[in-house]
Amino acid sequence: IQWEKQVRTSAQIHRQGGMSVLVTGAAGFVGSHVSLALKRRGDGVVGLDNFNDYYDPSLKKARKALLSTHGVFIVEADVNDAKLLAKLFDVVAFTHVMHLAAQAGVRYAMENPQSYVHSNIAGLVTLMEACKSANPQPAIVWASSSSVYGLNEKVPFSELDQTDQPASLYAATKKAGEEITHTYNHIYGLSITGLRFFTVYGPWGRPDMAYFSFTRNILQGKHITVYRGKNRVDLARDFTYIDDIVKGCLGSLDTSGKSTGSGGKKRGPAPYRIFNLGNTSPVTVPTLVSILEGHLKVKAKKNIVDMPGNGDVPFTHANISSARMELGYKPTTDLQTGLKKFVKWYLSYYGYNHGKPLN
Ligand code: NAD
Repeated sequence: IQWEKQVRTSAQIHRQGGMSVLVTGAAGFVGSHVSLALKRRGDGVVGLDNFNDYYDPSLKKARKALLSTHGVFIVEADVNDAKLLAKLFDVVAFTHVMHLAAQAGVRYAMENPQSYVHSNIAGLVTLMEACKSANPQPAIVWASSSSVYGLNEKVPFSELDQTDQPASLYAATKKAGEEITHTYNHIYGLSITGLRFFTVYGPWGRPDMAYFSFTRNILQGKHITVYRGKNRVDLARDFTYIDDIVKGCLGSLDTSGKSTGSGGKKRGPAPYRIFNLGNTSPVTVPTLVSILEGHLKVKAKKNIVDMPGNGDVPFTHANISSARMELGYKPTTDLQTGLKKFVKWYLSYYGYNHGKPLN
């Protein structure tokens, strides 16, 4: 009863024409930012997260505490919990689901392949089943990944390009997710939008990502490992600032249209869409390091080694014209500016003063 009350209060809409959104992965990096942004503009938000220990769970707890001060409640549960999902959809008539819960990271899949199948495939299907059975059926926006472009070397990547060469199990589960959601779209009339995020970074980010672990190691005087591609070519990423990604997510929710139900064919098809959300200006990893050195005012100790062929791709670069046209998506933060904000957050979150630990 207490649980239901918290869910209902959190789902309350405080603006005209607002939406009520179930955000999975809400204690995660992107999920916490999206949840806050929705709540701030007056939408109802209920989070769901299993608080797994893929990376430091205390960071997830801290995000949860932050969301709670803004009135967002996070249910602690796994997306594979079909009973819990059915109950949630009973308590709240969600208009939208923002599905961000997933096992992320490309290298971790070498040792933990099953966790990708559990969260990114089985979990996705469990969620789709719950959405299919819900009344009303919510529109779904979910996170695919730029990794689906895999070893494709034609840049910039556009949504119509081939995605038939995944370089990691992670990429394969995201590609499978696109097929699974497409199936639920045409059989059951669910409105689906898949977003291919390109290397998202920023405050409250993910400790397993390079910009984050580089920052930690540089501050602790430890070496960082910088991978180099074939023929000594630097790796490059289309680093995309979190606030730009959040705008793309909100734009997708706002334009996602309605699910039409299994009788969809009679009432016209529900939309199935895929968009790249990137910054469309790739930066090499050595340049990322030198920007961090500038903001941290510390020189990095670098080990430069050849990329070990364990799931990374040499470069990513998004063509964002579809997202620009259909979602009004327009990234505005360059890497220099975005990393400055990240470093500021990092130093304050981990208690550094002028680059030195406070205690
Ligand atoms: P994150 O790991 O910080 O967030 C994911 C959250 O989902 C975590 O809090 C985790 O506890 C939760 N979760 C995982 N499995 C779950 C399960 N089975 N049930 C319930 N909760 C579960 O990652 P993120 O960077 O915020 O990524 C969000 C989404 O965006 C993911 O789908 C990820 O694959 C995708 N993505 C991220 C990036 C990026 O650069 N950050 C790039 C491409 C795609």
